[in-house]
Amino acid sequence: MAKYSFHVEQAPKTLCTSCPLCLKKMTHTNTHILHAGYCTCPEHIAIRGGSRAHIRFPAMFALFEHPRHGPMLFDTGYSYRFFDATKKFPASLYRAATPVTLREDELAVNQLATFNIQPKDITRIFISHFHADHISALADFDRARYVYLPQAFDSIRLTRGLSAVRRAYLPTLLPSDFDTRAAPVDITGPINLPPEYTPFTRGYDLLGDESILAVELPGHAHGQMGLFVRDERQTYFFVADAAWQGRSVRENRPPHWLANLIFSDPRAYRQTLGRLHSFQQLHPSVVIVPSHCEETLNKFQAKTLVE
Ligand SMILES: [Zn+2]
Repeated sequence: MAKYSFHVEQAPKTLCTSCPLCLKKMTHTNTHILHAGYCTCPEHIAIRGGSRAHIRFPAMFALFEHPRHGPMLFDTGYSYRFFDATKKFPASLYRAATPVTLREDELAVNQLATFNIQPKDITRIFISHFHADHISALADFDRARYVYLPQAFDSIRLTRGLSAVRRAYLPTLLPSDFDTRAAPVDITGPINLPPEYTPFTRGYDLLGDESILAVELPGHAHGQMGLFVRDERQTYFFVADAAWQGRSVRENRPPHWLANLIFSDPRAYRQTLGRLHSFQQLHPSVVIVPSHCEETLNKFQAKTLVE
């Protein structure tokens, strides 16, 4: 037993994925990468050195089918609520800055129907951060618990009007019973991650079975949460807006300096991007999924989508 002595209770708990004891209890999810709508942005804003042509920013969300916890989502993409929420000033500024295109068949509820999943079946929605392009359809899932890093919501909870719009937050997108269904991550109980996640060393085991591990990805928005998700065939790293393009991660190439105006902490953003780049160098088999990278979505998104 001495060989596995690191399983003895310690604080914080250390995950190990390389010994028989841990491998036995590993759980996998079926992962489907999808998107609901897109906005556009000049490429040279999204990535330094890019062209002046406008590129599409798809609003990615993901479906995880877990053997015990049922179907769950990572973010939701856009819904028609976004258009209602941005009719009047000052929220209309948001819509003007990021013109959105959304087809009915792309709505999360409609795409889930192609998997025979009803909105009431969704047990949890993992929220990367509270920007409108990630939470527009939260209210469509009336039984889901909302899981997020508490500092993400604390930073915008009381903001309204122009102050909220400047943070890309539209309070009316939150369902009226958000507080009763909120399940913020217990950040007092981090775990040490094994070397296969280097340079990420601390995370949160969201389901207690190591199938979905959360890490903080600071810089773009307060408390932005990324997820490592273990699929049967593949490990995915959902990085939300810590990088807008897969190429940014590959080349460690940040967006235009103008993008710093909307980041909560530009210096932390740059550090996080550097860590993502290092991670990819060290673990090339893991699929890194930025939320708005069309190249990545074209490669990995579920084939159920109508193109
Ligand atoms: Zn976004």
